Amino acid sequence: MAAAAQAATAAAAADVEAALLEVGRVTRKQEACHASSLAAVSKMLQAVSAARQRLLTNAAAQPQAVLAGLHAELAGAGVAKAMTADTKELHGSVSKLGKIVDRSFSQDIAKAYKPDRPLRPAALNQVIAEHLFQEGRFQVGQLFVEEAGVAEGDALKRPYQSMHSVLQEIQRQNLSPALEWVRQHDAQLRGPGGEPSAFEFSLHRLAFLSLLKREGQAAAVAYARQHFGRFRASQMAAIQRLMGALCFSKRVAAGRASPYGDLLTEDLWGNLARDFVRQCCVLLGQAQDSPLLVTVAAGAAALPTLLKLAAVIGDQSVGELSDAEQLPVEVPLGQEFVFHSVFACPVSRDQSTADNPPMLLPCGHCICKASIFKIAKAANRSFKCPYCPAECTPRDCQELVFPDME
Ligand SMILES: [Zn+2]
Repeated sequence: MAAAAQAATAAAAADVEAALLEVGRVTRKQEACHASSLAAVSKMLQAVSAARQRLLTNAAAQPQAVLAGLHAELAGAGVAKAMTADTKELHGSVSKLGKIVDRSFSQDIAKAYKPDRPLRPAALNQVIAEHLFQEGRFQVGQLFVEEAGVAEGDALKRPYQSMHSVLQEIQRQNLSPALEWVRQHDAQLRGPGGEPSAFEFSLHRLAFLSLLKREGQAAAVAYARQHFGRFRASQMAAIQRLMGALCFSKRVAAGRASPYGDLLTEDLWGNLARDFVRQCCVLLGQAQDSPLLVTVAAGAAALPTLLKLAAVIGDQSVGELSDAEQLPVEVPLGQEFVFHSVFACPVSRDQSTADNPPMLLPCGHCICKASIFKIAKAANRSFKCPYCPAECTPRDCQELVFPDME
């Protein structure tokens, strides 16, 4: 599963885990309480029937005295007290479980909603359709496209159809369609120096290892002779290692200890499938994880913070407190949600934009353009850097360009 989704499900899984732990505790307590109650009741029964026996068999017995004796016996054994204590303890843990469930699962998530940013249904529908196609859910996706009236649904679907037809064959451990796909996209896949792609090599590497395992040395050597030549320049170290494995082919194939044991133990086919999806999405100009998946995962990860915020600010909605671009709190989502560099001005806290880029001052400090002009007031007026005593004019400052920033 995608890293982004994993982060979100990890938080939910922790909640479920905590609740399940408490369920286990309640169950054990309930069983203990049941057993001790049964024992207490049978103890009482014994005492009562003994007293009854005494009354029946001994004509001289005073009923009052026998009853008093029974009372004293039961009180002395503390039977009722123990039962009450057990039941109380059980109720305590049941209500604790209830609280855990309430806290983790019955949130009114609408409180974290920002009503000032209305969703654009057409864009949302397109993202949903694309997600379904990317996941290979073509029937559902097609139905959704028809019912929601998504424009150009076929164009959305086509590239993912060919991706999934190859992916299915990889899952059946058939490499031919993947190799054919590489041949078709050879020009786009090649490295910056025109060398054949590392992905293509990983296909041949897997074919070589499969042959070594299934058919032995000779077949693997023949395959290597035929296919490894063109990767001489770019993959020599990996090829040498594969050739080394030939000396241990029986051990490698049998999964016994050898210096090359790792070659066949990793999840070769699973890794290749993931790698193929990544390559495909790069060529399609798409993220490996669908935008919908990433958005939902990021939202789920941010939700606890937003709900806490909603609880703190009370009746006001979160939307009222936040301006168009920013939330009033930081929501750290983790590395898997960082896609490119961002610059936030340390003075204004604004994220830089094309109109308000980061600027490098001669002293080496960096603030955004708007902040510089706010402090200096004119392009040729000198101002003091907010972070050191150095002075300069806005003209001395240089715009910074991050290669991966839009
Ligand atoms: Zn400075």
